[in-house]
Amino acid sequence: MSLEDIEQELCGIETITDAALLEKLSLDYYHFSPILEQQLKLKRADLVVRPKNESEVLRIAKVSVERRIPLTLRGSGTGNYGQCIPLNGGIVLDTGNLNDIISLSAGLARVESGIKMGALDRHARKIGWELRMIPSIYHGATLGGFIGGGSGGAGSITYGMIWDCGNVLSLRLVSLEDEPRILELRGKEIAQVMHAYGTNAIITEIEVALAPAYPWLEMVVVFEDFMQAARFGQAISNSDGIVKKLVTILGYPIATDYIKALEEYLIDDCSCALLIISPWAIEAVEDLARQYQGQISYSKSEPARLLEFTWNHTTLLARSIDKDITYLQAFYYNLETVEHLYNKFQDEVMMHLEFVRLHGKPIPTGIPLVRYSSEQRLNEIIQYHRDSGASIANPHTYILEDGGDGQINQGQLNLKRQLDPHGLLNPGKMRAWSIPF
Ligand SMILES: Cc1cc2nc3c(=O)[nH]c(=O)nc-3n(C[C@H](O)[C@H](O)[C@H](O)COP(=O)(O)OP(=O)(O)OC[C@H]3O[C@@H](n4cnc5c(N)ncnc54)[C@H](O)[C@@H]3O)c2cc1C
Repeated sequence: MSLEDIEQELCGIETITDAALLEKLSLDYYHFSPILEQQLKLKRADLVVRPKNESEVLRIAKVSVERRIPLTLRGSGTGNYGQCIPLNGGIVLDTGNLNDIISLSAGLARVESGIKMGALDRHARKIGWELRMIPSIYHGATLGGFIGGGSGGAGSITYGMIWDCGNVLSLRLVSLEDEPRILELRGKEIAQVMHAYGTNAIITEIEVALAPAYPWLEMVVVFEDFMQAARFGQAISNSDGIVKKLVTILGYPIATDYIKALEEYLIDDCSCALLIISPWAIEAVEDLARQYQGQISYSKSEPARLLEFTWNHTTLLARSIDKDITYLQAFYYNLETVEHLYNKFQDEVMMHLEFVRLHGKPIPTGIPLVRYSSEQRLNEIIQYHRDSGASIANPHTYILEDGGDGQINQGQLNLKRQLDPHGLLNPGKMRAWSIPF
């Protein structure tokens, strides 16, 4: 069947076949990884479709099943490991037009999956609520893409990761069975779809819990010593009375060399903490800054500015100055592991910590910057981290399991067997699917 025939079958639905647009809408931020860059740069969809509503999504699902055409979902394409890049061509379904807010009330939002997180957050703040957590690129990222391929961000120090129970309440899905249908998952069942790279179902609607919105205050605190900055970050994170949204620590020379916008708030050779806290926490934070020999150099209430120097924006900014920099995603769990790895790698792995709440406990995670020399050296660094007690969510692979703990997620696999029996959704990303059963 030709491309024209498929377009004919999808008549009335927006389709894109222009080569330049196909290239743009087939790729994401995979180039943060020199390894993925080589593997993925030439991958392209044959056709991009932009449905406006769920019935158009159902029609696309039917064509994909009847014609056995691969179907890969795309939010805004801000993922970092090729999650939305089609490995085998076929159709890319761009959710950008599925962007309605279905309902918004105190503590709760129900939305279409392609809504931009920035837009939803803005609407929620008008009624005194906000998203519980946002990636640093939240203005552009979709909520469906964050659930399908993201993990956490500002807010994770209080609410944990996106997949922690109670953050997402329900997901409405379209299946790719012989007769595609709509179904809704609630409660713990939704874990089968969360962070599954769109390999087992199309999310069309999402119900999320919201957080009370604060008039946030941003702060930069500078330190001569990185480990003092890290201890300060842990102390703020441990302080339950300090209402907070962001605790980021950037080891020297990240801020001084790569974040020019912070220049006037830094001192020579410094590490720094970037914080978003409630304005009523200021005295408590000042006390802690004194205790750890930090100096507050910037303090301002909204509009927000610091978020775009944190999480994976730090990597983006560093790479805009030095293309040989790449990154890791680490769970250090404690400061002893941080200190050991800091001393071991020094300038080769520049420390960038993000504190998050994991199973009720505030811990240091990180997105350290790596001066890339070779794939072999990168793998040695990853292995050394693992041997030292850190977990690495490897951002240099597009395989779902290898980007996590390496284990097969049986719930996600079972759902794929049920809802995508022909293996058409994002083929090649879930390793478990290719293992005979
Ligand atoms: C500068 C920068 C900063 C970032 N900061 C963060 C951060 O702070 N925290 C973080 O977690 N991530 C971060 N990311 C990674 C990425 O932005 C997030 O994962 C983001 O939320 C993805 O949203 P998206 O709409 O771009 O999704 P996409 O990249 O388009 O898709 C992500 C995955 O979800 C799947 N998907 C998309 N829509 C659906 C759907 N409707 N149903 C089922 N599956 C679907 C796709 O197939 C793909 O596998 C950052 C990336 C960049 C480039």
